[in-house]
Order: sequence, then C-alpha cells, then structure tokens
Amino acid sequence: MDRILLKLSGEALAGEKHTGFDEAVVRDVAKQVKAICDKHIQVSIVIGGGNFWRGRTSDNMDRVKADQIGMLATVMNCIYAADAMRAEGLKTHIMTPFACGSMTELFNKDKAIEYLENGEVVFFAGGTGHPYFSTDTATVLMAIEVEADVILSAKAIDGVYDSDPKTNPNAKKYDTMPISEIVDKKLGVIDLAAAVLAMENKMPMMLFGLNDTNSIEKAVTGGFTGTTVTV
Ligand code: UDP
Repeated sequence: MDRILLKLSGEALAGEKHTGFDEAVVRDVAKQVKAICDKHIQVSIVIGGGNFWRGRTSDNMDRVKADQIGMLATVMNCIYAADAMRAEGLKTHIMTPFACGSMTELFNKDKAIEYLENGEVVFFAGGTGHPYFSTDTATVLMAIEVEADVILSAKAIDGVYDSDPKTNPNAKKYDTMPISEIVDKKLGVIDLAAAVLAMENKMPMMLFGLNDTNSIEKAVTGGFTGTTVTV
C-alpha cells in the first residue's frame, strides 16, 4: 500500500452529535493520518456532506440546487479537516472540480500526484462537481484518477453484514466480499454507480468503523477487522 484514498462520511466528523463537527473526532482522525504519512504512505481524502445537508428539504426544492448545497458542504468539511491536519504538522491541499476563489485549487491530476509524492495530504472536495452523484462516486473516481492502491472507507458501521446488525443480533460480518456481489445484489454498501466504477476499474476497498480505536491506522499497518471488498 503506497497511496491510499481515505473516505470519511460527513456524519463521521460529527461524532455523537450527528451534525456539524466534533473536534475530538476530527483531531483523532488527523493524528492517525499523521501516523500513516510518517510511514511514507501517501494519503488523499474525500469527505461527505451529511453532517450539514441531507438532500432536498421537500419536493418543492430543485434537486440540482440541493445537490449544489451538498457539494459545498463537502468543501466546508475539507477546510475543517485540513486545518486539523495542519495542526498535527501536516501540509495539506484542497482540490475542487469548480473554482472556490482562494479557498481551494482546481483539481489537476499531475499536481495532485506531485503533492502526494511530496508527502502532503490532498483533499478532494466538492464531489464530482455534478448533481445526481454522491461522494462515494467521487471517491472511486478520484482514487482511479490519482492511481491509489486502495480506498479506505471509514463508516458508522464496522463492515459489510448479511443483515442489519442493529435489528439482528446474529448478523454475520463478512471479512471479504467480491465487488461483483455488491453490484449484482445492489447491496447499498456504497452507491451502485460507485460500485460499478470500482468493479470496472478494479479498485479495491476496505470498509471499517471509524469509531473503532485507531481503525484507519489498523487498515494500513495491520489488525484490520472490517470488510475487504475484492475486485
Ligand atoms: N453531491 C453531489 N455530487 C457529487 C457529490 C455529492 O451532488 O458528486 C451532493 C449530494 O447532494 C450529496 C451531498 O453532496 O447528498 C453530500 O454527499 P454524500 O451524501 O455522499 O455525503 P455523506 O453521506 O457521505 O456524508
């Protein structure tokens, strides 16, 4: 594993509050990312927007406008998380598919790879830049574009189960799961467009719970207990 793309859902940044930011949670993520960078593994990051915005407020709202708010929420999340990483001593960059003035820079593959090769953390904010997509799709797209080895997806749930562990105490967690099964059974672990893109471009994923102690580091250095999605 030389280059990873870490995906954090927006809600992951909010901790127990489920909205906005939980400083302790973000600081813990930043410390883990610093430890990974210190091992000379290159880190890029995509963050969702769910801690600020969950789609249309009613059927009266235009979907495109709602998605634009969602994309901007991901920019705010990246600004916050990048600042937490700066406080840990990391150099960071935020790239977006659309102009955000002096706050971010436009995505450019060569530039992103140059930063990563310098040991600097690169955030891909703003999703794909298009409505009707999700940050899952942006995650897979960016991982393919910057030639990441694997996607590490930190979620509220600690892996892929055969049924909902919240309602079924006997739910079984899979150690591995072929991406073709996620696509064929439309499992909803990640959205279908993202799953198809990952399958066609052979981009593996590791899914795990952000709440588990040092789970991001463990996915890289050993002791991983989530689900590996194979391609
Ligand atoms: N979004 C979008 N296009 C993209 C990525 C995201 O329109 O390429 C919008 C969409 O409204 C989405 C929101 O941004 O609901 C936040 O992303 P997501 O739901 O993936 O965040 P998460 O649930 O991971 O926090």
